Amino acid sequence: MSVPFVDLKAQYQSLKKEIDPVMLDVVANTQFILGPAVKKFEEDFAFYCEARHSIGLNSGTAALTLLLQAHHIGPGDECIVPANTFFATAEGVSSIGATPVFVDCEAESALMDSSKIEAAITKKTKAILPVHLYGQPADMDEIRAIAQKHHLLVMEDACQAHGATYKGKKVGSLADGAAFSFYPGKNLGAYGDAGGITMHDDAHVEKIRMLRDHGSHVKYHHELIGWNERMDGIQGAVLNIKLKYLDSWNKSRYQHAQSYKKALKGIGDIRFIEEKPDRTQIYHLFVIRTSKRDALQKHLNDVGVQSGIHYPIPLHLQKAYASLGHRKGDFPNAERLCDEILSLPMFPELIEAQIEEVVSAIGKFFS
Ligand SMILES: *Cc1c(COP(=O)(O)O)cnc(C)c1O
Repeated sequence: MSVPFVDLKAQYQSLKKEIDPVMLDVVANTQFILGPAVKKFEEDFAFYCEARHSIGLNSGTAALTLLLQAHHIGPGDECIVPANTFFATAEGVSSIGATPVFVDCEAESALMDSSKIEAAITKKTKAILPVHLYGQPADMDEIRAIAQKHHLLVMEDACQAHGATYKGKKVGSLADGAAFSFYPGKNLGAYGDAGGITMHDDAHVEKIRMLRDHGSHVKYHHELIGWNERMDGIQGAVLNIKLKYLDSWNKSRYQHAQSYKKALKGIGDIRFIEEKPDRTQIYHLFVIRTSKRDALQKHLNDVGVQSGIHYPIPLHLQKAYASLGHRKGDFPNAERLCDEILSLPMFPELIEAQIEEVVSAIGKFFS
């Protein structure tokens, strides 16, 4: 039996009866961009995240960009980001002309090491962007305390953590603003590219709504230089249906992670990403670590088990950031992680037999 890394077809089949008619409604009503389906999703998603506002966009990257731009961050400014994250966290900073400043992660949790943030702060620092990596919230209390002390903004990169909680509070409600991605493979995924912002702050919401729509509130009246970053109507309609299932899907992911952990414990030199006690982890990805990562991945591939590496190159060693002048050894925890991590199949519809298949393939490799 082969095991896919994610199975979006299984989920579509389970939702087809609900999703097909609402997508066709958007087409029949020709409400292709923004419109009532997006508006409803914005209201429901804000409520879900315990935030006052939510703004529908066309990607998570756009969400990061607009959050920073709306707060007057731009050329000459610096934003602190983890060295181990998806490229877009830093790209969002760079695309508005600001400079990402990297911070290493903790060895065991893979989350940005809050004890190393202060050393990265300069006169130019404007914001800290913690990433809730793999679905586990970052150390928000520590990070907010540092931000307060140095008068910095905190923007959550919540693109992998829809529905995760930190000390009982939902991500998306924990800072000055939060960026979400609804890329199809995320825990809450659309049927194309989509993203969104959640925030409490009334002052910046209208500005972000303008920035996503060519700097305009009223058609052909442009108050700002903006972008074209609006959410499509079809994506709003799909997300409205899927939001109802998010908590139960996240619960399934958590259970699958516990099944994997129980079955894989003690096999070879396998280790897991630390689960911190005061937060819920919604397992966007289930990541193991081993010194034999490349050989294990090849073996799994040969027997039909798909896996991934999130991510193989830390940001400071990416070609695109060569101009920042970093070298190997600058962020040792992030670098070691990149060499050891392997993401195993993880999606809500995963069945026990598939988990057993993955575990037995890994067991054979190490025996
Ligand atoms: C997916 C992701 C993004 C970007 O989202 P897009 O919708 O693909 O633009 C940003 N940050 C992290 C951590 C992500 O996982």
